[in-house]
Formats: sequence, C-alpha cells, structure tokens
Amino acid sequence: MNETKEELILRGEFVLASPFEEPIKGGAVVIKKDRIVECGPWTDIESKYPGARLLERSSGLIAPGLINCHTHAPMVLLRGMADDLPLKTWLEKYIFPAEACLTKEIVKTATLLACAEMIRSGTTTFVDMYFFERQMAQVVEQVGLRAYLGEGIFDFPSPAFENAEKVMEETRDLVVHYKDNPLINFTVDPHTPYTCSSNILVASAEFARAHRLPIVTHLSETRWEFDETRSIHSKTPVKYLDELGLLGPDLVAVHCVWLEESDIDLLAQKNVNVVHCPESNLKLGSGISPLARLLDARVNVALGTDGAASNNNLDMLGEMDVAAKLPKGILQDPSVVTAEQAMYMATEAGAKAMGAKDLGRLEPGFQADLIVIDLDRPHLRPCYNPVSQMVYSATGGDVSDVMVAGKFVMEKGRLVTIDEEKLLSQIRSFQNQPFWQEGPCS
Ligand SMILES: [Zn+2]
Repeated sequence: MNETKEELILRGEFVLASPFEEPIKGGAVVIKKDRIVECGPWTDIESKYPGARLLERSSGLIAPGLINCHTHAPMVLLRGMADDLPLKTWLEKYIFPAEACLTKEIVKTATLLACAEMIRSGTTTFVDMYFFERQMAQVVEQVGLRAYLGEGIFDFPSPAFENAEKVMEETRDLVVHYKDNPLINFTVDPHTPYTCSSNILVASAEFARAHRLPIVTHLSETRWEFDETRSIHSKTPVKYLDELGLLGPDLVAVHCVWLEESDIDLLAQKNVNVVHCPESNLKLGSGISPLARLLDARVNVALGTDGAASNNNLDMLGEMDVAAKLPKGILQDPSVVTAEQAMYMATEAGAKAMGAKDLGRLEPGFQADLIVIDLDRPHLRPCYNPVSQMVYSATGGDVSDVMVAGKFVMEKGRLVTIDEEKLLSQIRSFQNQPFWQEGPCS
C-alpha cells in the first residue's frame, strides 16, 4: 500500500469532481496524504508539482468514491438464502432465526466479504446497521474503508446484546476507542419504530444527541408498518417519530416508501435525511418511494443498497441506475431524477446525511476518497458524458481503482488490503455448510 508522503498525481481521461460540474477532459487529481490538493486540467498541473509520483489512467474516469448510505454488510452471507417473500415473513421466518446463529467470527468473515464487494464496485464509505459492530470495526479498520457503524437496537435481545442500555454502553466505549481514527465512525440505530418501544426510541435519540452521533432508523418501509402505526398511534410513522422528537437534521430515515404529502413537508421542514433503497424496496415488494416528490420538496435524499439479502448485491452503480429510471417509468416522465441527481444521491447527499463536510466531491481540502472507472470497455464507449456513463452504463465490475483517504484499497483491479483468493475459499466452505443450519440458535 502506498502512503503518499509527497504529492501523488492521478491522471485520467476525465475527472468528474461532482455531478453538476463540467467534467475535466484530460484532467488530473493531486493528492497529498489523505487529502485532495487540486483537481484540474493536466496542462495546468503538469509542471506544478516536481517530484510528485504520477499514476496514469489513460482511459480512466476519476470520480468521487460512492457512499452507500444504508446497508447491513454482514448480510452478504445470507445472500440468496430466502428470496421472493414479503418483508415481515422474510424477516420473522428466515432472517431473524438465521441471525440468531451469528457469532463474532462469522460477522468478521462476512464483513470482509462485504468490504471486498464494496471496494470492487466503487464504494468508499458505507453506513451500516447490524450486530457485533465492534468486530466489524476491526475488519473495516484493517481493510481501510470508511464506515459509519451502528449496533441495532430492539425491544427484544439482539444476537449481540440483551438490551438497549447495553448497546449504548458499547457505543459509548467504541466512540472513545476510535476517537482518533477518522475512518471509523459510529451511529445510534433504533431498528424501526415498530421493533422499538417509544421509550427506547426517545432514549436512543437522547443518547445520540448527547454524543453528537447520527440517528439511523428504518422508517415507513411497508404498507403494513404504515397501517399498523396509524391503527396503534393514530398517526403516520413519520408523524409518530415527530411526536417523539426524533425528526431533525441528525436523523437518517431509511426507506420512507409510504408517505403522505404532509409527511414529505414535515421531513423537509425538519431537515431529515432520507435514504432511498430502490432495489430492496422492489425486491421485497415494499413499494416505491415518492423520490421525485421528496427531491422537489428539497429533502436531502441519499442512496443505499440495503443488505445483500434483499438486493442482492452491494453495487451502488447499479443502484444509481435504478434510482434514476424507476421514477421515470412510474411517472411516465423521462425528465424526473436525472443522472446528475442520481449520482449526487450516491455521493454528496450521503456525505451531507452523515454530517461529513469533506466527503462526496473531489475538491481541494476534501478527503481523497475516489474511484477510477475504466472506460475502455465496449459498453462504456463512446463516452460523451461521464455522468451518463456512470449512472446508465457502468456496473460495479468496471471500477479499476479505489482510494480511501489517499490510500489505494484497490489498484489496477487488485485488492490491496484483502487476500481475495483466501477469502473466497473460506466463503465457499460457508456455502457448503450454512451457519444457520447448526441451529436452532437463540
Ligand atoms: Zn435495512
């Protein structure tokens, strides 16, 4: 792995600093340590940094690293174990019983597999809600990705902790332990408004706010949740969380599929961040989020894959494609959710949701989190518009290089920090003996 002591210059066919800026043809990015020094045309940069190390990617599209704003990374091990079921049946009959068999070691291996997949498809930051986040943090730290990790909080014991108080103790401890590591961050994650009591929701928010951590929760994902909340609390899930004081700029509300017009206004007014996970919503038959209306109301909408068991991959390039196309079909209007908006959701909106002021764009002073897409592939030529290519033509497999905080985690198609061959052989053994078949576990 190369740590940049002096400047490193990455020169590509295009540099795309942000989706709404003109791509720089024949551009280069100058990096020093973990930060971007300059982005510009090669002719401006060529003679400015004598002694800098130059890396040529002559057919490369250099773009900001993708931010997967919602996943459950270790669920890669549950990929394909139960498909084509509605959320509630899927969770209660298959996922929760399997997750009861999870151990720290299984979670570590699963996290490594998820990191390999995310790096290969251009994700540099991911926001995770799962169990055993301490073990996940250890793996993520070794791998060199950037993460926001949240230990799931429920009314009932999770596979890792017996109650919400224990989760908060653990989170407090992890925050202190990782305070000097800018790549590993934490969130507070009450799972849903229906798997957490109002007391736990309020306590989670108070704890998060006392520690200045983002609050992440699933919200209004299914028709069942929407109807159930209305029948118990006489209000929509969004208004229920508002009544409890949870809505605010530090809330990251995942899904938001079932919304009334007044819910959208409330989300906008309270500056709540929404994470759109279109592939998971489609696959679980949960419905389709009113994305165009949320964007019109100026709600900050980021993008996530959700877990690999409901997607079934962690490919953010594919997710952008669906996010841009789905509303066009639904509304019979090809002008809604442009390629630029979809890419913004996968980069800058994710950074904004997490309160990260130096992520999501290639700009001087920002973190050097970037990816290179190799355009020399039949499905990526000709390239007239790099944003269009990223959103509508590229897939995760087209990413050749990934850098996080100035360090390559993938260089010219090779994972730098993961022994991929060894990892895949280990995963094949899981495949031969699924861990949940050792059970029943609880
Ligand atoms: Zn989720």
